Amino acid sequence: AAKAAGSQLMVYTAELDERADATARLGADLRHSLDDGDFRVVYQPIVELDTGRARACEALVRWHHPVRGVVSPVDFVPVAEDNGLIVELGEFVMRTSCWKFAGWRRDLGRDAPGYVSVNVSARQLSEPGFPEVVAGILAETGMEPAQLLVEVTETALFGGGVAVAAVETLHRAGVRIALDDFGTGHSSLGLLRTVPVDVLKVDKSFVDEIIAGGRPPVIVDALIHVSKGLGLRAVAEGVETAEQADYLRELGYEYAQGYYFGRPVPEPSFHARAAVPDDR
Ligand code: C2E
Ligand code: CA
Ligand code: CA
Ligand code: CA
Repeated sequence: AAKAAGSQLMVYTAELDERADATARLGADLRHSLDDGDFRVVYQPIVELDTGRARACEALVRWHHPVRGVVSPVDFVPVAEDNGLIVELGEFVMRTSCWKFAGWRRDLGRDAPGYVSVNVSARQLSEPGFPEVVAGILAETGMEPAQLLVEVTETALFGGGVAVAAVETLHRAGVRIALDDFGTGHSSLGLLRTVPVDVLKVDKSFVDEIIAGGRPPVIVDALIHVSKGLGLRAVAEGVETAEQADYLRELGYEYAQGYYFGRPVPEPSFHARAAVPDDR
């Protein structure tokens, strides 16, 4: 038995080594791809439920790996956080998104989105000088601070300290702050008292509970009350069906995003579309 356990352990460590190798390779590829310009940004509309109009959008990074094709951020953002490249990558995403937004404001007239939402990781927030980098990008693109929404996770703020101080600095400068994946991290409700937050992004896992004939989706219901009570804007994430959109609107949600309204694409359309409620 001891021998069997021993060989199992060897298999296990070999697997771990392989995984570590794969991660190291991915990390090295990230470096090359940053230099070669293999990253793109796509934008997913954030829709006003009453009118069906895209009022804003979220920027999401895409990696066009020279060999593997498109790699999901779920697979490489954690690697970039570990090796620190997220700082450079995140700045690229922020700058690209803000220039894109400035172009829409210039070209689209009254169809232009009101703000662009950009994901910022814990590592970026904790990097000294991050608020200054953001201020510089706003200045070069001519954006108003309130036209930028920075999405941070509860987990990124859990440690307090530098990350929270950065959020406070950004917020004082007029940049708006969203708590991403709200309800899935640590100490959700307590954070709302200590960190300046403008928007709650209600996680897809709670929206998924809205199923025809299913049990009442109690958490999306509770969270709209929490956000209204605190004077925050709620955005429901991951809406995939008309039923979910209708249900959320009836609960009092004003904003949502999800494949039902539009997938993330390089050039989203912000043209007014037919109202969601009746004429489907
Ligand atoms: P997230 O910030 O929660 O972004 C929402 C994710 O859900 C996106 O996946 C989006 O494409 C996907 N999504 C939107 N609507 C639907 C829907 O109706 N159904 C389903 N199944 N999925 C939907 P994506 O683009 O693969 O990004 C995954 C995660 O990677 C993001 O989750 C975010 O945590 C991270 N990420 C993406 N871009 C960036 C970035 O520029 N910087 C940082 N730090 N993280 C990023
Ligand atoms: Ca997000
Ligand atoms: Ca999210
Ligand atoms: Ca998520």
